[in-house]
Amino acid sequence: MEDRLFRTAMGKFATGVTVITTKVGENVHGMTANAFMSVSLNPKLVLISIGEKANMNKLIKESGKFAVSVLNEGQQDLSAYFAGQVKEERNIEFDTFNELPVIKDALVNLTCNVHESVIAGDHTLYIGEVTDLRVTDGEALGFFEGKYRKVV
Ligand code: FAD
Ligand code: NAD
Repeated sequence: MEDRLFRTAMGKFATGVTVITTKVGENVHGMTANAFMSVSLNPKLVLISIGEKANMNKLIKESGKFAVSVLNEGQQDLSAYFAGQVKEERNIEFDTFNELPVIKDALVNLTCNVHESVIAGDHTLYIGEVTDLRVTDGEALGFFEGKYRKVV
C-alpha cells in the first residue's frame, strides 16, 4: 500500500489540532499533533502518538510528563510553527499551568504524567494520566484532508 493513499485515507478523519509541550530542566519544547484522544474516565487517561524521530519523543521519555493544548480557530499560525513549517525561530511566551508550559488562550490546557508508553511501529503511544485541566470558551481549529478548517 502506498504511504500517500494511507495518509489520504487518514486525512478523511476530521480532527482538532493540539500542541504538545514538555519541559526538561529549563528546556521547554512544543510540537503540533492531531493524534490525540480521550481514553478513560476512571482514571482520567488520554493518548498521544509521537513519531520516533521527533525531538518531543526523547523529551517526554526524559520528563515523564506532557501537556496538551487544544488550539482555537485563531491559532493556525502556532500549529504551523510547532510543526516546523515556519523557518524562523520565534520567542514564544508560554503560560505555566501545573508546573508545565502550555499554549496561552487555547481551548483546553491539560497536564499529564506518563501512565504507560507503547512503541507502535514508527511512533510511540503515550497514555497520560490527567493531573489537571482548564477549559476556555471558543471555536476549535479543525484539520481535514491535510488542510485547516473552520468547524461549523
Ligand atoms: P521540532 O521540529 O524540533 O519543533 C517544531 C518547531 O517548534 C520548531 O520550529 C522549533 O524551533 C519550535 N519550538 C519548539 N519548542 C520551542 C520553544 N520552546 N520556543 C520556540 N520555538 C520552539 N507528528 C506526530 O508525531 N504526531 C502527531 O500527532 C502529529 N500531528 C500533526 C498534525 C498536524 C496538523 C501537523 C501539521 C503536523 C503533525 N505532526 C505530528 C508532525 C509534527 O508536528 C512535526 O513533525 C514536528 O516538527 C516534529 O516534532 P519535533 O519535536 O521534532 O519538533
Ligand atoms: P497529511 O496528508 O500528511 O496527513 C493526513 C493524515 O495522515 C494525518 O491527519 C494523520 O492522520 C496521517 N498521517 C500523516 N503523516 C503520518 C505519519 N507520519 N504517521 C502516521 N500518520 C500520519 O497532512 P499534511 O498536512 O501533509 O501533514 C503535514 C506534515 O505533518 C506531514 O509531514 C505529516 O507526515 C505530518 N503529520 C504527522 C502525523 C503523525 O505523525 N501522526 C499526523 C499529521 C501530520
